[in-house]
Amino acid sequence: MKVLMNTLYDKLDEAKAFALSFTNFVYTYDDTCYFDFAEAPCPVCDRAKQNRDYLVPKANCKKPCGILSYLEFGVSPGLRDELIARFDITEDDFRPIRTKRGEIVYYQITPQHAMLPISKVNHWMPYRPCPKCGYQGYSHHDFENDKGEFYHYITQEALDEMHDLNVTFEWFHDAPLVVISRRVYDFLVEKYPRTHYVPFFLP
Ligand SMILES: [Zn+2]
Repeated sequence: MKVLMNTLYDKLDEAKAFALSFTNFVYTYDDTCYFDFAEAPCPVCDRAKQNRDYLVPKANCKKPCGILSYLEFGVSPGLRDELIARFDITEDDFRPIRTKRGEIVYYQITPQHAMLPISKVNHWMPYRPCPKCGYQGYSHHDFENDKGEFYHYITQEALDEMHDLNVTFEWFHDAPLVVISRRVYDFLVEKYPRTHYVPFFLP
């Protein structure tokens, strides 16, 4: 099957890393909302950190990779096991997602390794940190190719230091980007040719 990404980008062989951008939605139960899974929000910036595992109906977990209701990414238990077996990725990089009856049906991707800052090369501007909780977000900026597809830049220093599964140092709208190494990307697109990612190139 044709790899979707190869139809969207030229020179994809020069891409060094990729941000996850799965498009299949994996919805939580209709009667739950984010605040059922999070601590009380910061009174100043309203940011609320997740403190419980998500609950999702089994019927909503049909695809091997997906984007969750609150815009994190997730994978099936089988794919999670395969990623741990093949790459420098551990159990700590995932958080279980269960049905209301307690069965694990999916895994949230929660990478433990944060990359070196790459804001300068991407024109991401820091906002003033929250005076109460210290949270600092960045303004997001995407470079765009002639097909309207987005891409980012990575420095050689950040590339040399990154792991197979990472989050960016920078956060946007309460979440970092989830970044995978070239070898994890090659594995995923061979297995799932229709999945979507945002490539990183050297400047
Ligand atoms: Zn705050």
